[in-house]
Amino acid sequence: MNGSTRSILHLDADAFYASVEQAADSRLRGKAIAVGGTSRGIIASASYPARARGVRTPMPTSQALRLCPELIILPGDFAKYERFSQLLFAYAYDLTPEVEVCSIDEGYLDLTHQRQSPRDSMRWLSQQIESELKITISQGLATNKFCSAVASKLKKPANQIEVPAGEEQAFLGPLPVRWLPGVGTKTEPRYLHAGLLHIQQVATLSLSELEKIAGSSAGSLQQLAQGIDPRPVIPTSPDPKSFGEQETFGVDQTDETYCLAVLRAMVDRLCRKLRATGLAARTITVRVRYRDMEDTMRADSLSEPSPLESDFYPILQPLLRRCWTRSSPLRLVGVRLTNFHTALPEPELPLTGLPQKSTTERLQLADATDQVRRRFGSQAILRGHDLWLQKKRSAGESQGDLHSQPSQK
Ligand SMILES: [Mg+2]
Repeated sequence: MNGSTRSILHLDADAFYASVEQAADSRLRGKAIAVGGTSRGIIASASYPARARGVRTPMPTSQALRLCPELIILPGDFAKYERFSQLLFAYAYDLTPEVEVCSIDEGYLDLTHQRQSPRDSMRWLSQQIESELKITISQGLATNKFCSAVASKLKKPANQIEVPAGEEQAFLGPLPVRWLPGVGTKTEPRYLHAGLLHIQQVATLSLSELEKIAGSSAGSLQQLAQGIDPRPVIPTSPDPKSFGEQETFGVDQTDETYCLAVLRAMVDRLCRKLRATGLAARTITVRVRYRDMEDTMRADSLSEPSPLESDFYPILQPLLRRCWTRSSPLRLVGVRLTNFHTALPEPELPLTGLPQKSTTERLQLADATDQVRRRFGSQAILRGHDLWLQKKRSAGESQGDLHSQPSQK
C-alpha cells in the first residue's frame, strides 16, 4: 500500500424502512412486508421475503398486492426511521469523525487514518448495528467512493465486499453499464445500442466515441469506469441537514396575510431546491422575531416526506399563528425544512386510481415549472401569493409608503 492509498467504506442499510418496522415489531420479522402505499400508492420499501415474490420499489401498491396477496403493508413512520438513522450513524461516528451522511441509510466513512484495520472496522460496524438495532447493513470497502458504493450494493443483504487496491478496474469491468452513475432506464438503451454492455467497454472506448453517448460527462464517466474517483469524503455535521430562508422586514409587520405570502414564497424556493437535489423533507419550522428581538419557533411534520410546496402550504398558517402569539409586530420571519429523505422515484408505469395520479401530476407539474424557471428566470411563473407580494411591494415603493415593504436582500 503506498502512502496515498485511501480506505473508503460505504455503508447502505438493507431494505431500511421495512427493516426498521421489523426491528420495532418482532411479529413482522421474516414476513413479506412493505412500507408505503398510503398517500402516494407506491411501495417505498419492501422486505426481502416480499422481494422474493417480485415486490419492488417503486411499484404501485395494487400491483404489489397482486404479486403477493399476503403482503403486510404499513404506512411509513418516518419519525421512527429518522431516529433509527441517527442511531445507525452513531456507530459510524464511534469509528471516525470522517463520516459523510448521504441519505437516511447511506454514508461514506474515510478509514484511511485509523489504527484499526479497515476490515476490522467494517466487521465491527455490521455486528454492532445488527446486534443493537436488529437491522442489517451492506458495506463496501475500497480505495475510492465509487468502488465502495458499488461494492456495498452488489450483493445485498448483509454483505461485505472488499476491493483491494489496484483491482478497481478489474472489479468494475464485468458489471453491466447501468452501475455507472447517469446510466438509468432512460439512458441505458443508448449504451446498449452502441454495443456497450459492460463497464470495461466504457473504460476502454475512445473518449470521442463516448462523448457521442454521454456528452460532456464522458470524461468523468470514463474515469469512474476505470475505477478512478478522487472525490474526498466530506464529513457532514451530525446535525440534520436543512434548507432555510429568512427575511428581515424594513418596517415591522402587523399584516398576517403579508407574512404568510412571504413564507409561502420562501417555501416555494426551498422546495425547488429539494427537487433539484432529489430530496424530500418532512419537517417545517417557522420562526418569527418581534420588535423587541424575542424569537419564537414552531415546527410541524408531514406524515410522509414531500418535495412539494403544496403539501406544506396547509400547515404554514397554523404554524405562523402558533408562533405569533403576542400582539406585537414582527421584525423577521423565517422558515426551515428538515428531516430530509431521498425523494421516491416515480414509477414508470402509469398509475391507476385518482389519488396517486394526482400526486404524480403534481410532481410532473412541479418539475415542468422548475424547468421553465431555470430557463427563463424565477419570475417566469408566479403563484397567486407571488403576484400579490409583487403588487404590494411595488405599491409600497411608488407611494413612498414604507409600511409592509420588506428590506431588499
Ligand atoms: Mg439502503
